[in-house]
Amino acid sequence: EFSANQFKSYYKEIISMVEEEKNYLCELDRKLGDGDHGVTMSIGWQAVDEKIDNELVEEEDCGKINIMVGKTFLNAVGSSVGPLYATGFMRGAKVVKGKSVIGDNDLAEFWIAFARGIQERGQAEVGDKTMVDTLEPFADKLESVFAETKDFRIAFNEAVEAGEKGMQYTKDIVSKKGRSSRLGERSIGAQDPGATSAYLILATFQNFI
Ligand code: ADP
Ligand code: MG
Ligand code: MG
Repeated sequence: EFSANQFKSYYKEIISMVEEEKNYLCELDRKLGDGDHGVTMSIGWQAVDEKIDNELVEEEDCGKINIMVGKTFLNAVGSSVGPLYATGFMRGAKVVKGKSVIGDNDLAEFWIAFARGIQERGQAEVGDKTMVDTLEPFADKLESVFAETKDFRIAFNEAVEAGEKGMQYTKDIVSKKGRSSRLGERSIGAQDPGATSAYLILATFQNFI
């Protein structure tokens, strides 16, 4: 079981995680893009922080919380990840709409909708060197292990491991999407910043299950 308040605590934890990882994410983006990924994430999550402390204090609907997180992130962030993460949270919101507490089935569906929503929005495929390299193996593993075991904790932990491998693999491949695709072969050797932030967002949820 997972409650509206736990969603808020989880987002609070992401906010502090992003502050801790801000320089690392910028450093990764300096090798592949314009060096702003950590700053971008920080701006977005600081805006979410303010929403949680003001408008969402009394909110008990998991759907409304996640819609608000998505919208706030979108409005605050100008770069590529704004609409991508926003779509993830809004797709997840649809799954948990109208519920103040959700069970394991909804939780699994929430995260699958999050990951696949981002893939659909950005149209990147596995191997393009983007956050989809983390998110797609994560969603596939979550879906298959949850179907088999019906145990969200086991499925989620295995899924995060699959996502981590996907993230690490972005080091070895050429970018075919986004700003870093301009580097061609020179993009080999650096880990994708978005694949890294996506992994960190998922890994942070492990502390809540
Ligand atoms: P910008 O490139 O606009 O500065 P950020 O630095 O915040 O944006 O984010 C860059 C990340 O966005 C990349 O590392 C990549 O993972 C992700 N990204 C870019 N385009 C796409 C896409 N079409 N689909 C999925 N992820 C993408
Ligand atoms: Mg950037
Ligand atoms: Mg930028």
